[in-house]
Amino acid sequence: MNPDATVVIAGAGQGGFQVAASLREHGHTGPVVLIGDEPGLPYQRPPLSKNFLLHPHTQIELRPRSFYERRRIELRHARVASVDRSTRHVRLTDGQTLAYDHLVLATGARNRTPPIEGIALDGVVQIRTRADAERLRARLSAASCLAIIGAGFIGMEVAAAAAKAGITTTVIEALHRPMARSVSVATSTHIADLHRAQGTTLCLGRTVVRLEGDPTGAVTGVRLHDGSVVPANLVVVGVGVAPAVELASDAGLDVGDGIRVDAHLGTGDPHISAIGDCAEFPNPHTGTRTRLESIQNAVDQARCLAARLTGTPTPYTAVPWFWTEQFSTKLQIAGLEQGHDDSTILGDPATGSFSVLLFKNELLTVVESVNAPADHAAARRVLAADRPLRRAETAVDGFSLVQWARRNQDRTAAAHDAVDVSSR
Ligand SMILES: Cc1cc2nc3c(=O)[nH]c(=O)nc-3n(C[C@H](O)[C@H](O)[C@H](O)COP(=O)(O)OP(=O)(O)OC[C@H]3O[C@@H](n4cnc5c(N)ncnc54)[C@H](O)[C@@H]3O)c2cc1C
Repeated sequence: MNPDATVVIAGAGQGGFQVAASLREHGHTGPVVLIGDEPGLPYQRPPLSKNFLLHPHTQIELRPRSFYERRRIELRHARVASVDRSTRHVRLTDGQTLAYDHLVLATGARNRTPPIEGIALDGVVQIRTRADAERLRARLSAASCLAIIGAGFIGMEVAAAAAKAGITTTVIEALHRPMARSVSVATSTHIADLHRAQGTTLCLGRTVVRLEGDPTGAVTGVRLHDGSVVPANLVVVGVGVAPAVELASDAGLDVGDGIRVDAHLGTGDPHISAIGDCAEFPNPHTGTRTRLESIQNAVDQARCLAARLTGTPTPYTAVPWFWTEQFSTKLQIAGLEQGHDDSTILGDPATGSFSVLLFKNELLTVVESVNAPADHAAARRVLAADRPLRRAETAVDGFSLVQWARRNQDRTAAAHDAVDVSSR
């Protein structure tokens, strides 16, 4: 792409912000226009279900306004309504049109709203944006009984915040353990125990039939399929998100579980790319097409795309990683769960610090580290290395992931030196 080209970015979240910032780092000189439909400066979402709920002064803006001014990143508060690929223009909902040489779709995802009777009652909320979190914070201060539908990351994080605030909390989940789609039984069990120890009730393996309300339209409880009712004057629904793909599909781009992109994050139109929560990409770690919802993925895809647009194309191959914080526990996950067939635990869960290693076909695929940041850092290096870690190698007394990663790095360096010497 010409360094003077105009790059328009639809969506000023984590990915949109990062692609704008990285374009400037890579020396792009042309106009960069970052269009977002949320008010205020671009911000990070992770604190919304954690500290920000309890501490209103938590700083969440990614950068101050001066950052954008100094780098000539034009921030536009508007919604992109449509894309005209034949003339390379986007139309905003205020009627204005903007020309682009390259368009980045970084439109993220929005919450799924389950079709449950009573979902529109007063006191039933979801959380995706800063405005949602501010509303929830205000509601929490007045709530006595909170029910959370969905024991995924966000549901469990909100449960931890509510327990800290002394609110009677019940988490309702159709599956039989929390975060079941993302973590192993061992990690799930540890997290469940943490919550129970703080007084939270986990209603697992139960489905919601409807939400019940009083004559004023305020929620009073959640009726479950077994006929029981969980009393609640506040209900948080956290049952996952759907990618925001309509700009792409309306413009005739290929859409599956997200906007379909290639290994370089390009769509079928050479002038349009997509990154972050809205993009479905070929994942070299699983051999499947994947859509990920994480900061790592949005940031690394943005960097990869900015490098390509400024003349250094490399396929997107970053090792996925995730984290969650609940009470004083930090869970960090490296790799992507693809149905493991073996596992081992390093450390002792009773101490509150351990790692679960998951294997598929004898090879390490995922490491879940609970209050074990050194293992997490090592896991990311191990999973990115050319040489896989085999299950048999971990079956020795005192096996350490950190030491294995260090030895592997030394071996790789020695092999490179040998190649250098022999080619002299
Ligand atoms: C409460 C919460 C907690 C989270 N915690 C973690 C965590 O601990 N760790 C982690 O890794 N991930 C976490 N995530 C997920 C992480 O925040 C997302 O994966 C990440 O923000 C994705 O970045 P993105 O740029 O793809 O999308 P987003 O950050 O969602 O940004 C997309 C932006 O585009 C805007 N937009 C959409 N359509 C248009 C349009 N047509 N015109 C203009 N603007 C538009 C949206 O309003 C939004 O502002 C959390 C998410 C939430 C909601």
